[in-house]
Amino acid sequence: MKKMEEYIRCIPDFPEPGIMFRDVTSVLQDAEGLKLAIDSMIKILDGVDFDVVAGTESRGFIFGVPVAYAMGKAFVPVRKKGKLPCETVSEKYALEYGFAEIEMHKDSIKPGQKVVLIDDLIATGGTIEAAIKLVERLGGEVVKIVCLMELAGLEGRRKLKGYDFEAVVTYE
Ligand code: 5GP
Repeated sequence: MKKMEEYIRCIPDFPEPGIMFRDVTSVLQDAEGLKLAIDSMIKILDGVDFDVVAGTESRGFIFGVPVAYAMGKAFVPVRKKGKLPCETVSEKYALEYGFAEIEMHKDSIKPGQKVVLIDDLIATGGTIEAAIKLVERLGGEVVKIVCLMELAGLEGRRKLKGYDFEAVVTYE
């Protein structure tokens, strides 16, 4: 059986020169790769007590929904600014150049709910850190953070001190 990292294609110089882009389409387009990715995330969550999965746009949706469905939990989207139709809370965070902003519906997490955050990849940790702030502003408790991939060299983990974070594949 192939290992998870064997399904992940690496594209040099995308989207900019010098970036090694870890591509998940090569995982998704292979039935066994897709199954291994979702099953690996579910295994990480075995025994974790939680109510809802929150996934960040857009690859966090791809992995978050099947995990939530398989584990009998709800799914909540964390979206880019301007996409959600009802009242939202929003959080800005720094990118290498400029900033980004993500939002959640105010009624998407009930106070006291235990939340698992899911994304495809953690790089600098800015996206996950902003998602944690949103969940906590809504009164939710982030009990676990799961990514398919971690780019350890970018030290995103340092932004997640005090949180329980696990990746399926870690690149040094
Ligand atoms: P961070 O906020 O941790 O710096 O960046 C993580 C976000 O950028 C994630 O939402 C992820 O989807 C996206 N991202 C950054 N680099 C890559 C990459 O090499 N491959 C993929 N698939 N996503 C990336």
